[in-house]
Amino acid sequence: MAESKAKSPKSSKTSKTAGKTTRKSSKSKVQKFEYQAELKQLLHLIIHSLYTHPEIFLRELISNASDATNKVRFRMLTDKEVVSPDAKLNIEITADKDKGTLSITDHGIGMTREDLINRIGTVASSGTMEFIKQLKDSEQKIDGDMIGQFGVGFYSVFMVTDQVTIETRHADKDSEGLRWVSDGQGTFTIETIDKVERGTTITFELNEKSREFCEDHRIEHIINKYSNFVDFPILLNGKEINRVGALWHRQKSEINDEELNEFYKFVSNDYQNPLGHLHLSIEGAVNFKALIFIPDTAPGPFARLEDEKSLQLYVKKIFIQDDCKELLPDYLRFLKGVVDTEDLPLNVSREVTQNSPVMAKIKNIIVGKILSYLETLEKNEPEKFEKFFSNFGPYFKMGINTDFSNRDRLIKLLRFESTFTEAGKQTSLEKYVSRMGEDDKEIFYISGENRATLERNPNLEYFKKKEIEVLLLTDPADIFIVPSLNEFEGKAIKSIDKADIEVSDEERSEEALADNLSTSLIEIFKETLGDRVEDVIESKRLVDSAVTLVVGANGLDPQMERMMKMMQKDYQSAKKILEINTTHPLIKNLSRLNLGDSKDQLLRQCILQLFEGAQLMDADLASPTDFLSRMTEIMVKATEG
Ligand code: ADP
Repeated sequence: MAESKAKSPKSSKTSKTAGKTTRKSSKSKVQKFEYQAELKQLLHLIIHSLYTHPEIFLRELISNASDATNKVRFRMLTDKEVVSPDAKLNIEITADKDKGTLSITDHGIGMTREDLINRIGTVASSGTMEFIKQLKDSEQKIDGDMIGQFGVGFYSVFMVTDQVTIETRHADKDSEGLRWVSDGQGTFTIETIDKVERGTTITFELNEKSREFCEDHRIEHIINKYSNFVDFPILLNGKEINRVGALWHRQKSEINDEELNEFYKFVSNDYQNPLGHLHLSIEGAVNFKALIFIPDTAPGPFARLEDEKSLQLYVKKIFIQDDCKELLPDYLRFLKGVVDTEDLPLNVSREVTQNSPVMAKIKNIIVGKILSYLETLEKNEPEKFEKFFSNFGPYFKMGINTDFSNRDRLIKLLRFESTFTEAGKQTSLEKYVSRMGEDDKEIFYISGENRATLERNPNLEYFKKKEIEVLLLTDPADIFIVPSLNEFEGKAIKSIDKADIEVSDEERSEEALADNLSTSLIEIFKETLGDRVEDVIESKRLVDSAVTLVVGANGLDPQMERMMKMMQKDYQSAKKILEINTTHPLIKNLSRLNLGDSKDQLLRQCILQLFEGAQLMDADLASPTDFLSRMTEIMVKATEG
């Protein structure tokens, strides 16, 4: 389960705190180490707060034993020199009711000294740190069931004991036997021991309140509940416990929902049931079986998709790789499950999986099946689909720009809020088009941070008045997608922030300024603003506001510009076009000032103020101080007796 941790940069951190030698004889040297600060906090939390589901400690230890056994089984396909090549690939649990002790033994890959320091002694994922911080702040009790998600499952054992001993030997032929001991308080020790067999034994005495966990029936019950899918025999005091094994090899009709849910939790580390699943059994150009799940909830707020483990690869029921990146495109990496194929050799290496045409074919089929599944979900269970989209939309949408062969299908599955949906509800492009009038040629959108801000944007006024639907794009990902769509079902997709919009050419309102007055005023605007604007024009779209800024035909969407600015400090935004509303009383007043004296100071100040106010609206105002001092001057004039 923890291949990714090898990449974690934690080793330097630990080594700083590590290495106090307490005894110096060469063979049985006991080295004392201190836990990384974050881990101490986490341990404190586990010991003092986590109390629901303490039984998950057994799931975590069995799962680690199973991962380690999977790894050695894979290793043995190519390495004939592993330590104890004939060791049984099983997991042995010994429970002593009288002494209250428990031990879990595997004959897996084992651990090196480095593994003990860097994988057991450190918290690897940044998500975990955030999680700890949040928990510390909230002071609430949390569910022990959650901790496996954070890649620190091993420590759940400290919910049931005060001291743990790990005895381990790595499968490498020149490995050493090691003993690791810790009370989970702040330090651990490591010493060398004589250990002939490879693998790991974890031993501890249950604390008073956890004695139930050395009862056979209790252990058996926990294994049936959580570890049914482990692919190796599990023995309790020498007796084998029945397990389900490779679920994906069974007929669909032979698997019930409960088994599916448990299997999902087993492969995903999630503690909730999945939203849906696909069970594939493909025969033909490639042959594989797969059980793929869509989680019910979005990855946590601190999770990064690249850290999530997606699909596991098996070859002929033998585990080959965790988180096999070649089986899914990035935009579907939130899926969980297993794929098992007969078409690859057992000793397949990472390089081979990366370039294998078999993998490419499997991936294509999986993507196609997932999209069909989502299309059916959308049709038959729209609410579930909505939930899927609000959880995974930000990832899923990215497929539009990367998976060109499925682009049209993906576009149909997109969802957006619009001025015609309630807040929080979304529409598809298809539904938008079905609401369009016969002569309407364009699908409109506007983008911004959130719905409330967008709804106040002056550029929406015309569309509101005319009851024309506008998509409200609030997910930053939308900006990378929607403009590039260009059109949908023959309807052009356009930003309403762009000046080239064709709003219906009605007669000019009677209330508007006469043509000549308007032209003259526009001249003064242009003169005052100079090269700060691309152009000044009379607006056809404004209803209530006096002015608005729109993007010229070649400009970027304002939301896109904002992002460019965030990424590049010295990014120069393109000049915009200022539209003025000639029916607005303020504009009419300005026209009057202009008639009196085109050099009027107040007129110039108001023009600058209107322009900078519009910039402020676009979060693009360079100097708020100038804006404010000019406002004060204008108010002084307005209030003069
Ligand atoms: P996770 O299993 O989610 O990575 P854990 O805290 O349970 O997190 O385990 C940390 C790491 O310690 C594992 O990833 C693995 O490298 C190592 N480990 C734990 N138990 C064993 C074991 N029985 N055999 C070999 N390595 C183990």
